[in-house]
Amino acid sequence: MAVPESEPGRVYLVGAGPGDPGLLTARALQLIASADVILYDRLIPAAALDGAREDALQLFVGKEGRGPSVPQEETEALLIGHARAGRTVVRLKGGDPFVFGRGGEEALAMRAAGIPFEVVPGITAGIAGAAYAGIPVTHRGISSAVALVTGHEDPEKDETAIDWAALAAFPGTLVFYMGVGRLAQIAEALIDAGRDASQPAAVVENGTLPGQRAVGGTLETIAEVARASEIRPPSITVVGPVAALAAELSWLPPRPLRGRTVAVTRARAQSSELARRLEAQGASVVQAPVIRVRALPGPPLDPSPYDLVCVTSANGVAPLFERLEAGGRDARSLSGARVAAIGPGTARALAERGIAADVVPDRFVAEALVEALAEVPVARALVARAREGRDVLPDALRARGAEVDVLALYETVPEALSPSALQTALNADYITFTSSSTVRYFLDAVAAGGQGTSDASGAGPGRPPWSAGTRVVSIGPVTSETLRAHGLEADVEAERHDIDGVLDALLADAASGASEPAVS
Ligand code: SAH
Repeated sequence: MAVPESEPGRVYLVGAGPGDPGLLTARALQLIASADVILYDRLIPAAALDGAREDALQLFVGKEGRGPSVPQEETEALLIGHARAGRTVVRLKGGDPFVFGRGGEEALAMRAAGIPFEVVPGITAGIAGAAYAGIPVTHRGISSAVALVTGHEDPEKDETAIDWAALAAFPGTLVFYMGVGRLAQIAEALIDAGRDASQPAAVVENGTLPGQRAVGGTLETIAEVARASEIRPPSITVVGPVAALAAELSWLPPRPLRGRTVAVTRARAQSSELARRLEAQGASVVQAPVIRVRALPGPPLDPSPYDLVCVTSANGVAPLFERLEAGGRDARSLSGARVAAIGPGTARALAERGIAADVVPDRFVAEALVEALAEVPVARALVARAREGRDVLPDALRARGAEVDVLALYETVPEALSPSALQTALNADYITFTSSSTVRYFLDAVAAGGQGTSDASGAGPGRPPWSAGTRVVSIGPVTSETLRAHGLEADVEAERHDIDGVLDALLADAASGASEPAVS
């Protein structure tokens, strides 16, 4: 730690934006990546913590559903305590920290405690949610002012802090945060106070998130429209003529997986790309990582004896370079060898290290790599792979007379799954298996997680542990075979054995109507 114990660390009050991880600021990402401690709320993008240091302390201090929240004083005490211990503390909040985020209170507490702090603004949900629904909160000739209003009032309070007469008379757009449950009262209060009942209004649920929905009406009808559409929090409500522009400016492309939940079982470190693509299609992703990749210790690698280096997974690239670097080498040490990648994901990971793979097969299984290498002369090959890898490639190269060294760079180990993540995955519309080990460890998690419950004891060969409506997506024949070995069958098998293939297969299945979205 660079900061001496006597000097307090800094507290960063950081806005995480409204939900779309693409709307996190560069500064937020940078601070998340360097923080010692991160205290976060519920309404932050799920992917916001992906870039956090592995050893960073991550504390949830938000409100769990309708349950109690961590008391504000406790959160402030944690901020002060960690900062006094010299740590860099990120206080991550949804949207903007100073817009209904109690950021001001926390800043005052830091000032009072003599803790240095910085504020990193975020994109606020009221403006972003409206924008993602095609509503500009100001528009020339229509609205030249915007008011951000909290629709959440302490029901215990006798006197409301909201001056309805002033709000009704406000010459511009009103954006209400919270208050979906109070929408009828809000609309009525505005109308009673003189706001035009025929004025356009819109509600945006899950703004900027994969499951975003927007409904429109007038101030008079909007509460009923929202109720009929079962609009839920988090939502913002826009009142004013600009709300009608959504009819012309709505721009989000149709999202074929909207309303569907998809469980991703691969390692957290690799799941973000698949999760991002699924979310872009509107799916709600359930992160249920059952495996984790762990680099194996080993001596520095000298690749000079090899004329072929095969990398059989993107997971192998970082540990491969660690072994090279341990011997003072870099990408140039591979210049004497041809480099083969099993698929485009691996090729991309190599490209990030400055290596353009010489051979990438069309299908991403070892057999295809063997075929792709048929014309490549090989005297001595290095196969860099997982400890538990298949022997198809080394055997085939040896059969051609090559000398082959197999270098186990990493292993796949099980990752514990929380009972709630497991349960959510088992009820998802789709469960994706992207390797044999995800199948094995997922079924292990089912067996362990369900111990003692009648459900799991009934799960065995031929009796799927997941819900009857859940469809199982396999990345390819090897993974499907592993399912079959457990008496289970994939409903969908990808034609291309990579993430694009999984996504295409899932989209085709959803389009075929084989699974119905839970909500529409
Ligand atoms: N500081 C946050 C607001 C916190 S108050 C910001 O600047 O955005 C929480 C309220 O914000 C929710 O009740 C809801 O009204 C709104 N909100 C947060 N995220 C939202 C989202 N993705 N879509 C719609 N409303 C959202």
